[in-house]
Amino acid sequence: MKIGVLALQGAFEEHIKKLHELGVEAYEIRQLRDLNERPDGLIIPGGESTVMSKLLDDLGMRSKVLEYTTDGVPVFGTCAGLILMSKETGDPRCTGLGLIDCTAKRNAYGRQLGSFDTVEEFGNFGKIPMLFIRAPYISRAGDGVDVLATVNKKIVAARQGNFLVTAFHPELTDDLSVHKYFIDMIKA
Ligand code: GLN
Repeated sequence: MKIGVLALQGAFEEHIKKLHELGVEAYEIRQLRDLNERPDGLIIPGGESTVMSKLLDDLGMRSKVLEYTTDGVPVFGTCAGLILMSKETGDPRCTGLGLIDCTAKRNAYGRQLGSFDTVEEFGNFGKIPMLFIRAPYISRAGDGVDVLATVNKKIVAARQGNFLVTAFHPELTDDLSVHKYFIDMIKA
């Protein structure tokens, strides 16, 4: 199994480290030709969603990513990645890939709560640490969306078919649950 991590900007190295910890091969996707290696799964990291959206277009990568997703390649997005994978991003500078039928609310916790951490249930894994950095939450989830975690009644992790999103950063804590969950999605 080989997972590609979108490395245009943001926290991609930390995802690669986590995958290596789990014994999974991972590589950086920096340009269109890196996608030709045809990853078994794709991670869209945290960073700045408006910048990543623009780079996906400028580098001609958006349609290739969408082609893979229609072929069934699983995708996991954290934070800015969640925003990019949503149907509605609430920001004209960020065009959602529409992989998850949901609306993302960017920078949803205001300035004072720009960053915080907590411990909450994630799916069937029990409580895990969750670190939020200028994070979004999901303000609307369509019928086909499974909610995997909520914090203060706001959706912060969800899955629809082959697509997984978290508003928090599992690559920046010691916990491996979310990456394990994604690897299991690819294996299935
Ligand atoms: N606030 C960023 C955005 O809107 C996301 C922050 C993050 O990925 N840590 O894209």
